[in-house]
Amino acid sequence: GPGARWEMRTMLLEDGSCLVALTDHSGRDAIERMRADFVANASHELRTPLAAILGFVETLSDPAAGGDAEVRQRFLGVIDKEARRMQQLVEDLLSMSRIEASKSQAPTERLEWGALIRQVVAELTAAGDKRAADVRMELGPAAPILADPAQMSQLLHNIIGNAMKYGRAGTPVTVRLGFVGGQMAELAVSDESEGIAPEHLPRLTERFYRVDSARSRSLGGTGLGLAIVKHVVERHRGRLDIDSVVGVGTTVKVRLPLITD
Ligand code: ADP
Repeated sequence: GPGARWEMRTMLLEDGSCLVALTDHSGRDAIERMRADFVANASHELRTPLAAILGFVETLSDPAAGGDAEVRQRFLGVIDKEARRMQQLVEDLLSMSRIEASKSQAPTERLEWGALIRQVVAELTAAGDKRAADVRMELGPAAPILADPAQMSQLLHNIIGNAMKYGRAGTPVTVRLGFVGGQMAELAVSDESEGIAPEHLPRLTERFYRVDSARSRSLGGTGLGLAIVKHVVERHRGRLDIDSVVGVGTTVKVRLPLITD
């Protein structure tokens, strides 16, 4: 098939017969290609702000251009913003590799999902985003889960943060916590926005995949948020679903196993 690569080795045995060994390298090639793509993408994402920083530093070092106090302030502002973008990207890359490395160990801390959700919404509200004031919470009875608190908190930041970022200004974000059957807790985060076209949906959890790169960047996105979410959900033996209706909005759902003892 496409991408398949076979290695054939032949060996002549003492009795005159011939041994043919075929090895399929197509799977390994796919993984290597993904890794190479990832390194190329990450390097590109870091290079862009770095080039901006170096360019503005050079301009500021020129006494003719850097003399005006107002201009200096503006350029320093750009350098600050681009350096923060690089910082966020490096943080996200590090958390991604930490989460991947932790995957073979099931999370062990017992926590109440609703309490953590309330805390993350409070943090996002305190972050000073005006739209954060309009997060509506519908949290049902206690939902005890086994989790890695830091990873779960990051998952919530990324999902609720996206709804706040991509939701239309002035519209509410709804955070619901309920149950599916007796075994699973389900979090559903909904926004009102132009939504996401169906062809994009299966690719949103790919690292650096964005529907609109310029928009994502201007909102401070790294393109790693949903990739991190996917890995956290996998480690917690849960399930992630993203539904969107164009012109209406998006709902991101996470189901996690409840502690039932
Ligand atoms: P980013 O840092 O770009 O927000 P994510 O991995 O969190 O990266 O999301 C990937 C892309 O999915 C975003 O760039 C955006 O195009 C899209 N997306 C994520 N959440 C939403 C949402 N609630 N509404 C619309 N688009 C979204």
